Amino acid sequence: MAAPLDLRFVTSADRLEHLPDTPAEVAVVGRSNVGKSSLINALAKRTGLANTSKTPGRTQLLNCYALPDGTTVVDCPGYGYAKVSKVQRASMAAMIERYLLDREELQMVMVLVDGEVGPTSLDLSMLEWLRAEGLPHQVVATKHDKVKAAQRDKRKRQLAEACDLEPGDVVWVSATRNVGVDRLRDLVRVWLAP
Ligand code: GDP
Repeated sequence: MAAPLDLRFVTSADRLEHLPDTPAEVAVVGRSNVGKSSLINALAKRTGLANTSKTPGRTQLLNCYALPDGTTVVDCPGYGYAKVSKVQRASMAAMIERYLLDREELQMVMVLVDGEVGPTSLDLSMLEWLRAEGLPHQVVATKHDKVKAAQRDKRKRQLAEACDLEPGDVVWVSATRNVGVDRLRDLVRVWLAP
């Protein structure tokens, strides 16, 4: 079993310049409600660590968590968040894009896709954009437990195909049932290794 990631909340930043210096970073993106906070809590085996992103105001910020060696995980604002205006949404998307493009220490972008729902058009635009910019990214399908066992193979093929990937390219996780969480912890450690 991979030990939990010893993540501590560092800060919520409204722009890249307000994030701490770091030797290496991974970012987490996904539409709101995809299971981002639950996954960060599962990686750390903590409850409530990533709930800060739910408090009003913080939903629009880059929430930064650090490991003891100073490497960091940044939770980006969920896209498609219903409770913000069109203008706010556009400025948030611009802020996320700037951060992803300009953060030199960024090693990997985890793109969370709801495993039950499959990729939305927003998820597909994000993937297309990451590919066009040549940014390293990993698709993580959430809520594995919500897909019936008999449907899983088919669903895994469908989700991968919709993302223009092979089934083996997608990491499936369930934060509630702790499926795939160990594997993802190992991957995060590899991405953050010097
Ligand atoms: P966020 O908005 O992306 O941070 O999403 P949350 O982590 O708050 O999760 C959104 C909803 O999906 C919540 O009701 C969670 O309990 C639920 N959820 C998240 N992960 C899982 C999972 O692995 N399995 C199931 N069944 N539900 C999940």
